[in-house]
Amino acid sequence: SPSNPVVLYWHRTDLRLHDSPALHAALALKPAVFIPVWTWDPHYVYRARVGPNRWKFLLECQSDLSQSYSKLNPKQKLWLVREAPQTVLPKLWKQWQVTHLVFENDTDAYARDRDNEVARLAEDAGVEVIVRMGRNLFDPDHLVRKNGGKPTMSMTQVQKAAEKINNGQPEKPLESPTSIPDPWDEGKMDLSNLQQDMADANLDLNAVHRTTSDKQYSHIMGPQKNFSVPTMEEIGIDPSQAESPHRGGETAALNLLGSHIQNEEYVGTFEKPNTSPAAFEPQSTTLLSPHLHFGSLSVRKFWWDVQSVLEKRKKQKKNNSSIPTNIPGQLLFRDMYFAAQAAIGHRFARTYGNPVIRFIDWHLQSSDPQGNDSENENYHKDSDEAEIWFQRWKEGRTGFPWIDALMRQLRREGWIHHLGRHSVACFLTRGGCYVSWERGAEVFEELLLDREFSFALTVGIHNLTEKPDETACNVGNWMWLSCTAFFSQFYRCYSPVAFGKKWDPEGLFIRHHCPELSQFDKKYIYEPWKAPIADQKKWGCRVTGDGTDSVQHGKVYPKPMFDFDKRRQICLDSMKNAYDVGLHGDDEEVKSGAWKER
Ligand code: FAD
Repeated sequence: SPSNPVVLYWHRTDLRLHDSPALHAALALKPAVFIPVWTWDPHYVYRARVGPNRWKFLLECQSDLSQSYSKLNPKQKLWLVREAPQTVLPKLWKQWQVTHLVFENDTDAYARDRDNEVARLAEDAGVEVIVRMGRNLFDPDHLVRKNGGKPTMSMTQVQKAAEKINNGQPEKPLESPTSIPDPWDEGKMDLSNLQQDMADANLDLNAVHRTTSDKQYSHIMGPQKNFSVPTMEEIGIDPSQAESPHRGGETAALNLLGSHIQNEEYVGTFEKPNTSPAAFEPQSTTLLSPHLHFGSLSVRKFWWDVQSVLEKRKKQKKNNSSIPTNIPGQLLFRDMYFAAQAAIGHRFARTYGNPVIRFIDWHLQSSDPQGNDSENENYHKDSDEAEIWFQRWKEGRTGFPWIDALMRQLRREGWIHHLGRHSVACFLTRGGCYVSWERGAEVFEELLLDREFSFALTVGIHNLTEKPDETACNVGNWMWLSCTAFFSQFYRCYSPVAFGKKWDPEGLFIRHHCPELSQFDKKYIYEPWKAPIADQKKWGCRVTGDGTDSVQHGKVYPKPMFDFDKRRQICLDSMKNAYDVGLHGDDEEVKSGAWKER
């Protein structure tokens, strides 16, 4: 009965106990029974293009959260249920006699569809749904309303809109709970009688890219029938492939934030353009993005902890950097992309049909220009060459050590510094290969730890060709770098030689990620193809081929895949032309493909 609420708490973008408005609201119901769940959707697990590092990070977040629950109440944990939310939640609230379903609001396009469907099912079942915002500094929908109903396309617009909400002050963070109510007793929690519903998934496990046996997935409560956090093996991934040194989980997040906050000088003087993209062990920025992304850190706590340092320093008459280059400025950029996406919805993640994006006649267009798997009829005539460049970029064998080192860092660690992302994104798009930003964003989607986690395909059950677009920061930044939206100074281009050298003249970053070049003199570390053959031999690495060759003795590093200066000029001319033509993603000419006739 309502006086004895049975609360199902659905964790998605909030793998934490601290500052969770939704969790707070759930506990405020004074539940007689409280069950925090995560729904593992097999469609997603098997279909999504997600690299091993990201899976590992997610599992670490879940384990940590589960342990935190158990510490507060030994009967509790995070209950991992293996099935799509749309089919499993109705079974859960029937089995567990749930009165309330509570979760954090998610404004991503697919999440909205999914949550609307779940809310409708809940209403049918008489379950009350409670939703709270907690993923952003400001509710993205609220920001959009205060921006005249339009997508937020600049920092000024975000700041002005935020100013109209609580004078630009995000809500103060909430404390972590100090106690957690019990779940049902063991017998009632048991779901052995439930069938796992995967029928309409049409899930052909032989066709997916992983080799795990479907037997592992055969029970809703997991292989041990105890709702445990999956192992890497259970989801079909060889754990040795997950090499990233960056650890997931709320505990790790709060420790990392705490160590930054202690360094008041760092927090007070942080200016993004002055942080080095070549710094590693430690990196020069906070590396908190994966935690914000999985919700193992609250962005409001990050904001307010930083503010307390800034205020203290102000009183001590010490200098602080300011928005947009300081840390609060970085967090506002995040909100800017979330609100832009919230306004545009499904069309945000692609060019076709997108009202805010400039159309560019890339040499290599998106792999699914119309947002489906139809023939790639929009490929440009040069696409064969550009396809090869794209592959070499993706695999870190372009022959430009600065680019290759960054791309290898991305694959190994799942994270690169913002200006490193600038370098590789500019190089792939308007400043080198002239390949569509969408191709690059897809690679980032797979490999980044901090890319917005996409449970998109949970909604796409009936239409798995739909492209996931829970991608605010990734897509938004790719648009920025490719000068298709947010930013338009396409004549400002990153050199794959000079830019890295400015930060790291010795090439330490390159030596770390491209060890075959480690013996090269610093004179040649950014341009190894210029080193005399005798020196190449002496330093144990020949510069030859395309990165797939091997030589009999010693190592090889590829030759540059093109003459950068020539490519830069071609790109600049093409960008200028595209800007003059001035097509946008939602123009008829673009949607119909008529632009090809020009
Ligand atoms: P810090 O410099 O310490 O900044 C603190 C926080 O502010 C970050 O954790 C992040 O949440 C936020 N932030 C900083 N810069 C940006 C920005 N430009 N846009 C949005 N939020 C920002 N960030 C993602 O979170 N997910 C992505 O998928 C993503 N893809 C990107 C793709 C490209 C091509 C580029 C150029 C940038 C991308 N970024 C993305 C933005 C940015 O590079 C990362 O957020 C940042 O480098 C993360 O490192 P950090 O936590 O040390 O950042």
